Amino acid sequence: MTQFQPKTFLITGVSSGFGQAFAAAALADGHSVFGTVRTASSKVAFENTAPGRARAVVLDVTDFDAIHTTIPKLVQEHGQIDVLVNNAGYGHEGTLEESGLSEMQRQFDVNVFGAVAMIKAVLPSMRTRRSGHIINITSMGGFITMPGIAYYCGSKFALEGISEVLGKEVAGFGIKVTAVAPGSFRTDWAGRSMVRSDRTIEDYDSLFDPIRQARQTKSGTQAGDPAKAAQALLAIVVHPSPPAHLLLGKDALELVRSKIKAMTNEIDAWETLTRSTDYE
Ligand code: NAP
Repeated sequence: MTQFQPKTFLITGVSSGFGQAFAAAALADGHSVFGTVRTASSKVAFENTAPGRARAVVLDVTDFDAIHTTIPKLVQEHGQIDVLVNNAGYGHEGTLEESGLSEMQRQFDVNVFGAVAMIKAVLPSMRTRRSGHIINITSMGGFITMPGIAYYCGSKFALEGISEVLGKEVAGFGIKVTAVAPGSFRTDWAGRSMVRSDRTIEDYDSLFDPIRQARQTKSGTQAGDPAKAAQALLAIVVHPSPPAHLLLGKDALELVRSKIKAMTNEIDAWETLTRSTDYE
């Protein structure tokens, strides 16, 4: 039997949803968790969940300067971070034509640049130690798409790609990187956290209104259980060779599989034209 080795987690966005569930599961298993939150009251609430082992830092992941100074200081003062979970994020909803560029900027600042800034803050110490696990919470929206979430899917496709490249760059240093792509889970994502652009162009009514309506109706009754996602996360953390990509939920599995199949069919259908462009 292998001996239990307590780890130190750094999880962004532990005030609700996945982040809260990940932290609770890690703490219940005897690990220590540094969690990021955005308010003083969330800090108190989080630290009360496991005094001494649950510690919170007030940090907005778009405050890149603060990340750059706070996180290395945290490592210096409290020791190593074994597992970084880039979880903080939100969904923007709105058709591309109706959604301002500033909304796209914000979506990428939080979901992509914030995650990369956190990675950059922990990598030097992980590289020096030749160990660590970076887990990026992406989405099935990092593989599949639907009208009305172009900015969100764009951000999650980006994080999937960045994760995969990073995994190849740091594998030689003993650092593992996993992109975890959940399907629909019962969190605040489609509720209080979602940013919805105003509807302004009638032409999109028939396409987009039913999608917006369905997402609002489904919020709070999604099939995915964040507590079970947390157990899956702990399973990959202790696994000697964790995956580069992990889907969570039956919906994610079905939708991503059919996307890959459709893509393969399209590649096959256009193969002759694809092959026609090399010098002979
Ligand atoms: P959630 O319940 O709304 O939790 C989001 C967390 O991120 C909250 O703790 C929130 O803090 C934090 N956060 C948001 N913006 C932040 C910022 N700028 N700086 C720091 N923290 C910030 O939703 P969730 O579903 O657990 O979302 C967690 C991750 O899962 C996200 O990356 C999301 O895209 C992804 N995801 C969710 C689903 C789903 O169906 N739920 C599916 C696929 C992927 P506050 O409490 O201060 O707002």
